[in-house]
Amino acid sequence: REGITIQSLSKVYDTADGGEVTALRNIDLQIQPGEFVSFLGPSGCGKSTLLHIIAGLLPQTAGTVDVFGTPAAPGRQDSAIMLQTPVLFPWRSVLDNILLPVEILGLDRTSATARAHELLELTHLTEFAQKNVWELSGGMRQRVSLARALVTDPALLLMDEPFSALDEFTRERLNIELARLHEELGRTTLFVTHNISEAVFLSDRVVCMRPRPGEVIDIIDVDLPRP
Ligand code: ADP
Ligand code: ADP
Repeated sequence: REGITIQSLSKVYDTADGGEVTALRNIDLQIQPGEFVSFLGPSGCGKSTLLHIIAGLLPQTAGTVDVFGTPAAPGRQDSAIMLQTPVLFPWRSVLDNILLPVEILGLDRTSATARAHELLELTHLTEFAQKNVWELSGGMRQRVSLARALVTDPALLLMDEPFSALDEFTRERLNIELARLHEELGRTTLFVTHNISEAVFLSDRVVCMRPRPGEVIDIIDVDLPRP
């Protein structure tokens, strides 16, 4: 299967006062299927912009983004995005939150429910399946969000600082779980962070960026033993 190919990608925002901000300039990148790649850099270097363009949620100004052989587009079944603050429905159970994309995409609920139970197991949420999400801690909510992202079996998982609102301990624990899940499922994963140790711990490669304009300054191959 083809990976993700980014060529000469630029993004210029028009600002409210009539000015322009070059958020990304001339990004070239090839990501292999199954790779875990982190985007690392200070606030404002364009990490979120890049992830949203790959997700098809934001148009680029110039260049091309190819995801598994087709141009980036929203609403694809083969990709899922996870944000810093999970958007969950508080009056729904954990299981029904996880099944939400299945409803939206009109997929078969029976096979998806079996998959959801596997994911509950993998994210250590089995005993909470019928709880309402408002009963859960922040860390557990992000696990629900992760399980929901994986329920449609997406080949591509996009994560925009998913654990950065959590305390250090919860964050470290979730990173260990994410690394294990990646080992097990082997999904192509793009992970945005400004935390160096997190990027190195999780990734096969780390793309280092700098702001104004957002450019790739280095790509580091990480060769750490996996947990
Ligand atoms: P990061 O995720 O690395 O913090 P962002 O992608 O959020 O960076 O932002 C990159 C740059 O683009 C920043 O300088 C930011 O101020 C600017 N920017 C982001 N969104 C907008 C917008 N909607 N309008 C104008 N400028 C924006
Ligand atoms: P996390 O560190 O993942 O955010 P917490 O440290 O807040 O989770 O919770 C630790 C443990 O507390 C959970 O693994 C769970 O066993 C228990 N717990 C949290 N919320 C509930 C709940 N609503 N009902 C029962 N047990 C809970």
